[in-house]
Order: sequence, then structure tokens, then C-alpha cells
Amino acid sequence: MYRFAPSPTGDMHIGNLRVAIFNYICATQNNEKFIIRIEDSDKKRNIEGKDRDILDILAIFGIAYDDVYYQSKNLKYHLQFASSLMDKKKAFACFCTEEALEHERDRSKKQKKAYRYSGKCLHVSKEELLDNNLSFTIRIKKPQTNITFKDTIKGDMNFNGDEIDSFIIMRKDKYPTYNFACATDDMIQGVTHIIRGEDHISNTPKQELIRRSLGYEKKIKYTHLPIILNTIGKKMSKRDDVSSAKWLLDQGYMPEAIINYLTLLGNKTPTEIFSLKEALEWFKLKNISKSPAQFDIDKLRFINREHIKLIDDIELSKRIGFTGVNIGKLAKLYTQQCSTTAEIKDKIDTIFAPKNSDNYQENLNVLKAIFKKAPYFEEFDEFKKYLSEKSGLKSKNFFKPLRILLTGQESGPNLAEIYPLIKDYLKDIVK
Ligand code: GLU
Repeated sequence: MYRFAPSPTGDMHIGNLRVAIFNYICATQNNEKFIIRIEDSDKKRNIEGKDRDILDILAIFGIAYDDVYYQSKNLKYHLQFASSLMDKKKAFACFCTEEALEHERDRSKKQKKAYRYSGKCLHVSKEELLDNNLSFTIRIKKPQTNITFKDTIKGDMNFNGDEIDSFIIMRKDKYPTYNFACATDDMIQGVTHIIRGEDHISNTPKQELIRRSLGYEKKIKYTHLPIILNTIGKKMSKRDDVSSAKWLLDQGYMPEAIINYLTLLGNKTPTEIFSLKEALEWFKLKNISKSPAQFDIDKLRFINREHIKLIDDIELSKRIGFTGVNIGKLAKLYTQQCSTTAEIKDKIDTIFAPKNSDNYQENLNVLKAIFKKAPYFEEFDEFKKYLSEKSGLKSKNFFKPLRILLTGQESGPNLAEIYPLIKDYLKDIVK
């Protein structure tokens, strides 16, 4: 069982999308189930509607799954597990106030030591626990031995008990912390392989501790994907526009190309341009590089162009708001100048817009007037010859206004290649 566990707290980050793609690929390759778990336990951070947006993005990218779960529905199990850990003396109530903890954290900072819980409430007796009205958190006891696990990319990982510490599993408001909800949900849902970003690597020993303390013995495989760096070499954040899957789609990067790019990033692949279906044939997590991957928009632009060339003509036409097969072919011609469907749409919309020119208006008017009375020409050469002879215009004074007449632009792909694709729309175009 594989899972993708996004929090509905913002737009889908490309790092998360990459996690979803790899989970989908591995689940499909191994013929295993793949579930989506919306991690909505942290009510304060949830943003209304983001769960739906995430599911919509998965649909756009063709990432299919077996089921969707909402973590908040498991709250009763989280409470039961916390209570069972307390019964087994593997967890304890902690009455330390936030101010007191803050004070300890500050002290550690000043001493340049990592903060560790003091253990103050470890020995609170049952009587003390019952005989007061103070609110409390629940902490799990730190492990006595090291916690080890194997990561597909990073190899053997080893964390000592002090590093893991006695951390909070239930907050004062009696909602589970991320680590507790996540660890127990993975257990309940029978997850066998966790693929997620490496920012979670320090959570993994904590989640292992939780499950081991509950007596869960099944081994879970882990793959933590290296982070994606932005152009200045920093971890890509929400502030980088390109980090949002929705932003990339809005800019005219096609889902096929984004999947291709994110799968190629820091990976060894047999070809540079491929579809998700092809990746299912050869993808291997262990081929992903250990080092962070560098996001490169120019590479994505190149891959997008290649996918624009590969896609079915009618489909491409639809994606830029048209229907005809020839508009799809025309769109492909414009990959000489453009790299996204939005840029191409702009060019094609200009072809169909009224024609004017700063530099050639007079000659353009002459050609427009001749066109109005011209017969239909199957061949571009005949069309060109007719307009040239009737207007008497020569070289640049003919070719520039002719191009503007047909495309609204002063430069672009070869007119002889464009003409056969637009000749049936000339009445709409020349205006
Ligand atoms: N909900 C976590 C996040 O969005 C992911 C948890 C996980 O994959 O374990 O970062």
C-alpha cells in the first residue's frame, strides 16, 4: 500500500506533486493500492477548499488512486492509541506550560545546545494527574535504544534516543500532532512503503518509535526524495512562483511535460522525453540522485515544446481554445518561437485579431483592399503572386505587410508553411 498524504494548507508544491507521481508509479508497477490521505488534523492551518484543489490537480495530471481518506475522521483512533500508550507507561501527561518550555528552549539556544525536553513530568503520579485542573499535552517516552531504518536513496539511517527525545503526540486541545496522526494512520491503513520529501527524514524515527511503542511490528520501506533547489540554490519555497503546480499550468506548461520534467529531475532515465506511461516501464526509485535537484525553467520550457510537438493536433487545438485540426498543426509550427501553450495561444489569437501595423499600415491597407476582391487560392505561391502583382509592392514593403495581413505579426514561421493551415479561415483572419 502506497500513500500520498498532503496537508490542505496551500497550493500543491511541485515537490509534493513529484512525491505523488512517484507513489503512483511505484504502486502501479508493484500492483499495489495507492491512497490519498488529506492530513487535515491541524485545523488552524487548513485552508478551505485546498483539499478539492489537490484532488483536481491529481486528476489533471492523470494520477489515479484507489481511495481518499480525511485524517480528521480518525481522531477517535488517535485518542485510543494515545490512551493505550499511557496505560503501557510509554507515554505521559506533561503539564509544562508553553512559557516554561520556551524558557528552556531559549536557554539551550544560548548554550548552543539542541533543545531536549527536561523530563520534568515523567514521574507525575496518577494522583497528581487526577488531582488538578490544568490542561496537559501527552508526550511519548524517548527510546532507550537507537532507531534505525533503511532509506532507498540515503541508505542506512540511525538516530539515537536523545535526538528523538520525549516529544508531544497529543496537544493541549487533544488533537494529535502531525507525527502521531501520520504514524498511526500509516499503521491503520496498512501502508508498506512511504515515499515523501526529505524534509520529513527527522520525523521518520519519531513515527517508527510511535508504531514500535504500540507494538506494531510490520516493516515499512522508506524513500525520502532530495529537495528541489531554486535558481539561487535555496530550497524552493512557496514564494517561488514556479513551485506551484497550478501556476505552471496557468502559464501553459502541459501536465505531460511537468510530469516528464519532475521525473527526469535528478534521475537516470533511458530517454529525455517520455510519457508517464513509458516511465511506468523503467522507473526505479534507486536511480534518483542523493543530492538536491536544481530546478531549471529553460529545461522545462524545452520539454514542454517537445510535448507540444508530440500531442495530438486536435487535442492541442482544444487546449488553446480552438477546435480544428489545422489550428493544432499551426500551434506546433509556433514551437519555433514559443515554449508554452499560453504563448502559442497568444500568437494564434493575434492571427484572428484585426490587423494593424505601426510601420506598414499604408501597404497593409492596400493588401487588405486587394484581398477583399481576390479569388480563393489553394497554393500560397499563387496567393502571393496575385497580391504582389495587383499591389505592385516589392521585397520588404510587400513581405512585411503580407505577413502582418496573415498573422498580425512582423516575424514568425515560414508563411508558406502557415498558409495551408489558415487558408480556409482567411475571411476571419484578414480584417
Ligand atoms: N502532510 C505532510 C505534508 O504535506 C506529509 C506527510 C507525509 O508524507 O508523511 O508535508
